[in-house]
Parts: sequence; C-alpha cells; structure tokens
Amino acid sequence: MCLYLKILEKRQAMHKTFEIPLDIPDVTIEQVETNRHGDVVITVKSTLEGTYCHRCGKKITKVYAEDRAITFRHLSILGRKTFIRLRPVRYQCLSCDGNPTTTQQLSWYNPRSAYTKPYEEHILFGIVNSTIHDVSIKEDIGCEAIMGIIDRHIQVKIDWNTFTRLDVIGIDEISLKKGHRDFVAIITGRIDNKTVILGVLSDRKKATVKLFLSDIPQKLRQTIHTVCSDMYDGFIYAAKEALGKQVKIVIDRFHVAKLYRKGLDTLRKQELRRLKKALPADRFHVAKLYRKGLDTLRKQELRRLKKALPAEAYKGLQGAMWALRKKLTFPIYAFGLCSCGFLAHPL
Ligand SMILES: [Zn+2]
Repeated sequence: MCLYLKILEKRQAMHKTFEIPLDIPDVTIEQVETNRHGDVVITVKSTLEGTYCHRCGKKITKVYAEDRAITFRHLSILGRKTFIRLRPVRYQCLSCDGNPTTTQQLSWYNPRSAYTKPYEEHILFGIVNSTIHDVSIKEDIGCEAIMGIIDRHIQVKIDWNTFTRLDVIGIDEISLKKGHRDFVAIITGRIDNKTVILGVLSDRKKATVKLFLSDIPQKLRQTIHTVCSDMYDGFIYAAKEALGKQVKIVIDRFHVAKLYRKGLDTLRKQELRRLKKALPADRFHVAKLYRKGLDTLRKQELRRLKKALPAEAYKGLQGAMWALRKKLTFPIYAFGLCSCGFLAHPL
C-alpha cells in the first residue's frame, strides 16, 4: 500500500472516535464497554483515599474490602443509555471498639438512588414545561422512578454558601396529576451560564414558595433582581413579598404563547362553526383548510381557500388571526431560543 493511502486510512480511522470528559469528580475510568442492549457501561474507580468513620467521625484510611459493584444510570452518550459502575471501597476504623467498617461515598451519587446526581437533575429539568409521562417515555424510565427523584430532591437542603450572587431565578410548577401531590415547584438559578436547581418544593402554594425564598440569606437575596415564572399568581406574590417590590417579574414566553394561542384557537373554532352554517357543504370542506396556518398552506391550497370563502371571511381570517399570531410570535423568534426550548415546535 502506498504511503498516501496509508495516511488517508489512518486519518479516517482517527475521525471515527473522539474523547469526551466524563465530568464526574474523584474517579478514574477503568473500562468502557457496551452491554448486550447496546448501552454504554463505564467502570470507574475512586481516586479519593479514606472516609469518615460512621461511629466516631474520625478520618479512616485502612482499607477493609471492596463492596460489590453498584451501577448508576448517567447522562446518555450519543443517544445511548449510559451507566456508571463502581465498586465502593470499605474502610475500617482502628479506634472504635470492634473495628467497625464504613463505605466510602462519592459526591456524585446518593446511595439510595439508581441514578447519578447529574442524571437526576437532567430529569428534573426535563419535566419543567413538560409532563412526567412525556419524560418517562423519552428517557425510558418509569413514572415512579421520576416521582422518587422528585421526592429525594424535596428533602435536599441547598448550601447557600456556595453562591456569591443569584441575579436571576426561575420558579416553575410541575403537575404530577397522581398520588398524594398535585403540583411541586422547582426553583432554578443561572450560575456561570449553567442552569442549576436551587430547590424542589413539596407544593406550589404561595406560602411554601415565600418560605423558601425568605430562607435565602439576606445578602444573597439582595442580589436577585429578576424572577422568571409562569403566570401563576401565587409565585408572583411570593416573589414580591419575599424579595421586595423592586424585583422584576418576567413571565416565561412559553406561557404567554400558550395563552394567546389558546385564545386564537377558540376564535378559529367559533369561525369554523359559523362558516359551517353559512357555507354549502362542498365549500365548507375547503374552508377546513384554515385549520393550518395560512403561511403553511401550499399555493394551490391557498387559492382553493380564497375561492371557497366569502371575501370578508378570508380577509378577516388573514388580518385578525394569522397576522396577529405572527405578530405575537415574531418577537419571540427575534429574541432567540427560549430557555425551555419550546421553539423546537412551530408556534
Ligand atoms: Zn470510629
């Protein structure tokens, strides 16, 4: 084989794989493999030495044994389910009577969960402006498991000392629609261009949200200048009362769009009902085309529609409905992508 071909082949081979950081602290990767389902399984080993004795609290470094392997679901890689496998190290205390042992635990997982913390957060972000059922299907994870993630996060107390300022926070509600709770609220912040979860609240009541916001240390609370929320009164009043009247309330574009689209949809249905009575059946059949947006119709369809409808109905439709929708939607497009990513769906 000539040298040129060899180099070409080598280059092509080089572009078939790439490296991505695992982004999980205190571990090294021992092995990466795919299981029989095609899932990625990454076996890791702790790089931290020692742990704290569960009885006396002293640091212990005498290795006793390795526990059996535990596996956590992690963020998917290239659409493949990804799991992290770890054998935690058990250490022995030489000071306590009976030399009890304590298993080392790393910061990126909760031993009671089958998911890594980044994956649990990914699920929580997923259900904001969506439903548990949708996320359950998309992620191939049970609804009960998602409820478990929510429940675990309700109990987590955030360490406010890790923040120097908050600037903008978001308050979103999540509808559970079953079980003992109807709604929970998620409070998020933007830190270094990354959305982080500040708290998951057991309900969406004004008092609960106010209590959470009032609990933020005063110095940090004063750095919040904007609250993004849906149009739910309870959130808006809770924010005003806990953070002061000067705080700006921004209504999420997703919720505004949802409301005006609902209004236009009602108008469209009324107009269709009116036309059903006013037009002969064959012309009404064509009129049904205007269920679609005028801008999405093909030229031929548009001509048929124009012909079938009385002039004032067509004009009214074009002027009042589609133009209004376009007018309201355009600024949303002009501002760029919304945090909830709803622009993935045509408005
Ligand atoms: Zn001890």
